[in-house]
Amino acid sequence: MPEGHTIHRAARLQSKRFVGTELRVSSPQGRFDEGASLLDVHAVTEIDAWGKHLFYRWDHGHTLHVHLGLFGKFRIHADDPPPPTDGTRLRMVSERGTLYLSGPTDCRVIDPEEEDRIVSDLGPDPLRKKTHVSAVEHIETYLGRRTVPIGAALLDQSVICGIGNVYRAEILFRLGINPHIESRRLEAGDVQRIWDESVTQLRLGERNGRIVTTEPEDVGRRRRSDIARGERTYVYKRRGEPCRRCGTEIERADMKGRKIWWCPSCQP
Ligand SMILES: [Zn+2]
Repeated sequence: MPEGHTIHRAARLQSKRFVGTELRVSSPQGRFDEGASLLDVHAVTEIDAWGKHLFYRWDHGHTLHVHLGLFGKFRIHADDPPPPTDGTRLRMVSERGTLYLSGPTDCRVIDPEEEDRIVSDLGPDPLRKKTHVSAVEHIETYLGRRTVPIGAALLDQSVICGIGNVYRAEILFRLGINPHIESRRLEAGDVQRIWDESVTQLRLGERNGRIVTTEPEDVGRRRRSDIARGERTYVYKRRGEPCRRCGTEIERADMKGRKIWWCPSCQP
């Protein structure tokens, strides 16, 4: 599933092509015909990302909500787009490009009340500057009495939003926090460290368009840009392989239906 950095990057890059200009909107697949007809020949004024949610605000007051879920995918073509596939739910065309969206969990025109409801269920987003002030307090309040393991809590979008399976494992590794620790038993300052690390890592991911959490020196490289494909994570999908810092075998477990990886030595 795309994590928050992908969604924020999509908002930033799509804004350049689709904001402020009249769009042709259609649904080649047909499942979004009604919504598309509400939006066709109008302009988007803003594309806003919140965690894994995208909100496209239109000049006539409508909002399009998109959540990619597990299988959703955007394809952007600067010019000469290929014909849409059978599964293309949404097509948006401006003079600066064509967007195809297929397989989203959600692609609907929503009213302001529904947008409020979606956003109010979300915890602070490390990629939204305005949420930073009380973010740590929010997360601490939420986790303060919870027995849920911190590894699972980080996937709960109402605690902190935008973190998915890769980042949760990697952030906890980088901080030396064992994913099985009960949230309420975190040490003082841990929530602040988790928040700060989330901001750092998701920003890097947003800028680069991919998740690279390893430091060059830990994978025998001199520069971040030299890090190879198989060297981008410390623990994610590395069960049985040696820890990049201490050589201990990386472990894996099921945690509330999702797999989590950790180093038993670096994350005691
Ligand atoms: Zn280790």
